Amino acid sequence: MNLELSAEQTAVRQLAEDFADREITPHATAWDRAEQVDRGIVKKLGELGFLGLTVPEVYGGSGGDHLSYVLVTEELGRADSSVRGIVSVSLGLVAKTLAAWGDEDQKRAWLPRLTSGEAVGCFGLTEPGTGSDAASLATRAVRDGDEYVIDGAKMFITNGTWADVVLLFARTGGAPGHQGISAFLVPADSPGLERREIHGKLGLRGQATAELVLQGVRVPATAMLGPEGKGFSVAMSALAKGRMSVAAGCVGIAQAALDAALGYAGEREQFGKPLARHQLVQELISDIAVDVDAARLLTWRVADLIDRGEPFATAASKAKLFASEAAVRAANNALQVFGGYGYIDEYPVGKLLRDARVMTLYEGTSQIQKLVIGRALTGVSAF
Ligand code: FAD
Repeated sequence: MNLELSAEQTAVRQLAEDFADREITPHATAWDRAEQVDRGIVKKLGELGFLGLTVPEVYGGSGGDHLSYVLVTEELGRADSSVRGIVSVSLGLVAKTLAAWGDEDQKRAWLPRLTSGEAVGCFGLTEPGTGSDAASLATRAVRDGDEYVIDGAKMFITNGTWADVVLLFARTGGAPGHQGISAFLVPADSPGLERREIHGKLGLRGQATAELVLQGVRVPATAMLGPEGKGFSVAMSALAKGRMSVAAGCVGIAQAALDAALGYAGEREQFGKPLARHQLVQELISDIAVDVDAARLLTWRVADLIDRGEPFATAASKAKLFASEAAVRAANNALQVFGGYGYIDEYPVGKLLRDARVMTLYEGTSQIQKLVIGRALTGVSAF
């Protein structure tokens, strides 16, 4: 793996860094307090091409490689995980999956809108009764002439109330487990689809997370994404790349924790010298720095594998597992460097810790990542 960034990758990273510092970081605390990111940010992200990375230009995407996507995601995650998550879902889980599995009509109908930021996508897999065991989902889509009629509920859906299209997973056949699941592109304004925003989240407060309730929602049969009964493969292919995106967001959190801890330790004095000159504070800072580097290298390796067309799913699970736990550790260590000031939201580290915590839960908890890695190593499923 070549660790040198190309001129294009350096330029896109710089563009993202400047954008994040100018348009996101100054507002992150206010958005967190208000429990809502300014929706105008989506259009701006689209204008810069950040909602179309790796999507072919013919569908309105900005092309590019996966390492560029990771670099942009890191910068967004450094500035505000709520914004990073909006992109990771609308582009990472929805547009990229549509580009990989969609037919020509589906791609032309949705991709230009998603990559420009005119439309937002959400990913509806989790249900009130099924989280880690997603293959047991109960939402049903029953064929009726040229249509499917969908009934069920989805839980914890990022972008849920903002979205224009739901990539929805539902049971179509009588087959049990993952074999009976199909994927659908459901317009979010379909009659019978109700969206209820979930408030009171520990972190990612700027993001619109929702419960979706579907009662007799009708979609044309042409709304099915990929072959009938292959919906679980669609979901898992989305999540494999999605885990890289979450890992990159975690690198951004850990980097922000390092930057904040270094800044504060250089300014604040106790016992007649800056915190940075106390050995145990240096230990906290060096632990954060090692977590940043290790998480970044694991994440970049996934992008490199994808760009070279190599298998990457296990590497993505390793990166997501390590980077999410590292982000929590790094933010917690940074909060320790800030002492009591870390505990109030005038300083950034408390938010970093709150935002980091969910990374060990979604797109497969840390336990689920260990089972995925363990299955790959032993050849035996322990689910
Ligand atoms: P459970 O599956 O009930 O797990 C509870 C605990 O049991 C966990 O510690 C888990 O690791 C453990 N556990 C479960 N099974 C095993 C096992 N076999 N072995 C060992 N331990 C096990 N979902 C979407 O579809 N789309 C989204 O956009 C989305 N966004 C989200 C945003 C937020 C803020 C949150 C909190 C969640 C989001 N989710 C989304 C859902 C998320 O993916 C699930 O919460 C996650 O998969 C875990 O499912 P669960 O919450 O039902 O926990």
